[in-house]
Amino acid sequence: MSETGRPLNFIERIIEEDLNSGKVTEIKTRFPPEPNGYLHLGHAKSIWLNFGLAQRYGGKCNLRMDDTNPAKEDEEYVDSIQADVQWLGYQWDGEVHYASDYFDQLYEWAIYLIKEGKAFVCDLNAEQMRSYRGSLTEAGKESPFRTRSIEENLALFEKMRAGEFEEGACSLRAKIDMTASNINLRDPVLYRIKKASHHQTGDKWCIYPSYDYTHGQSDAIEGITHSICTLEFEDHRPLYDWFIQNLPVPAEPHQYEFSRLNVNYTVTSKRKLKQLVDEKHVDGWDDPRMPTIAGMRRRGFTPKALRDFCEMAGVTKVEGVVDISMLEYAIREDLNANSPRAMCVLHPLKVVLTNYPEGRVETMTAPQHPQNEAMGTRELPFGREIFIDQDDFREEANKHYKRLVKGKRVRLRNAYVIEAQEAIKDADGNIIEVHARVLEETLGKDPADGVKAKGVIHWVAAHDNVDCEVRLYDRLFTDVAPDAGGKNYLDYLNPNSLVILNGCKAESSLAQATANDRYQFEREGYFIPDAKRSTPEHPVFNRVISLKDTWEKAEQK
Ligand code: ATP
Ligand code: MG
Repeated sequence: MSETGRPLNFIERIIEEDLNSGKVTEIKTRFPPEPNGYLHLGHAKSIWLNFGLAQRYGGKCNLRMDDTNPAKEDEEYVDSIQADVQWLGYQWDGEVHYASDYFDQLYEWAIYLIKEGKAFVCDLNAEQMRSYRGSLTEAGKESPFRTRSIEENLALFEKMRAGEFEEGACSLRAKIDMTASNINLRDPVLYRIKKASHHQTGDKWCIYPSYDYTHGQSDAIEGITHSICTLEFEDHRPLYDWFIQNLPVPAEPHQYEFSRLNVNYTVTSKRKLKQLVDEKHVDGWDDPRMPTIAGMRRRGFTPKALRDFCEMAGVTKVEGVVDISMLEYAIREDLNANSPRAMCVLHPLKVVLTNYPEGRVETMTAPQHPQNEAMGTRELPFGREIFIDQDDFREEANKHYKRLVKGKRVRLRNAYVIEAQEAIKDADGNIIEVHARVLEETLGKDPADGVKAKGVIHWVAAHDNVDCEVRLYDRLFTDVAPDAGGKNYLDYLNPNSLVILNGCKAESSLAQATANDRYQFEREGYFIPDAKRSTPEHPVFNRVISLKDTWEKAEQK
């Protein structure tokens, strides 16, 4: 059992066996992102798993940039990855590692393989190589360059490194088995020529090692005991092991695969997310609608909610799709328990309390959190004029409408009961103001005449409030599986994924809110100041999430 009482997952069972049998004395894991984009929800799962295992079993977890493809990588991504891991609540062991730190060692090991007769320089171009490779049902054919002598291979590989060949002219390949049923073992490429500057090594190299040739050896160099990756690498494991067995590596790491996290109503692929950014369908990688960690942070999701969600989704080898409402549930759980309450009127309608003396003001006291007294109280200014939401007043309504109706009563949250008298309209018949009377003696008490208020609505004083912008977000895609089965996810962008409201009125205690403060705006949802847009002069609040799941209802209709 884990400390939260759930059964151990298969990786935890393996680790416990390895620790109990003495196969390892301390576990070491790693999180190995390629710095070619911002991290997303899927990566959060891998981070939670790798760092979480190290934490639980008293081991260590490295952060390693898997930077073997300079063309697509960037320092901006290296920085964002570190910020994201730390925000999720984790710290890597020692320095950040880079696969490129091992380029010298990998190069030496390539020469070692050549000298052992286990690698050769091949002049087939990419297309020829593909046709020689065979297929799942057909064995591959050996390259005509496979029989080159060790001396010739050493000389050619040196020339590759020295930049004497054009890109694509040749590559270094392992000599394994062109008839292997696993295509990954059919003389895979170890080095390609790429005349590109690298964000870490500059122009030192013009040949770059392949992912497969780099990954396991990097694990070995770092003393990784459990190298955890997603299922698409299962077929690469025999090659991973081949390198470990055929090179003088300092340790023998093992690779374990689990199924990747797929979530409905979203896409989790850096390539697709990059397209959304590059084509400006969203406002950058950290747009609060993006399933990137940076976007979710700015949106106001909490690290705890993301970790809880990963835990709920579980670790298995079964491919599946997790319902996004599970993530939303985790967020609501955390925010409901931990965020202070506040009032903010999104569509203000002025109410004049005609029997409340002009110039009189009062201060109401309200709890920060109805179930948590320790969070203290806040002060709410009250006066003759207040704002309520336009949706909370009707001239006539049936009995299901438990808000303010002309001639009827409603309670103002944390304040008096009021009774509506008259709706003031503009020339077009729109209601622009409501006149009402306050019932004295109703603070914390029902009206003395026994006519109770039907409902409770939120409000904000007109003379003392924070004028703000509110951004309401919804799911970025309208389709449950926007990129399934060859569909174009761009066809399913939700046109209402962002609604901007201006002139909203928040209670004055929110003037000091910072981008780390999440609130429940009563009856409206959870909100946080936008880290990039909000200023004291122009506060901007992001809706983290609504109070209830409205999609479920819409789908049932
Ligand atoms: P993408 O397809 O979005 O580019 P990737 O797998 O190519 O993702 P990497 O930077 O190579 O991205 O991934 C770093 C680590 O995160 C890898 O170990 C990878 O297996 C893991 N990972 C990526 N996506 C997911 C996911 N959806 N669920 C779980 N783990 C994931
Ligand atoms: Mg990748």
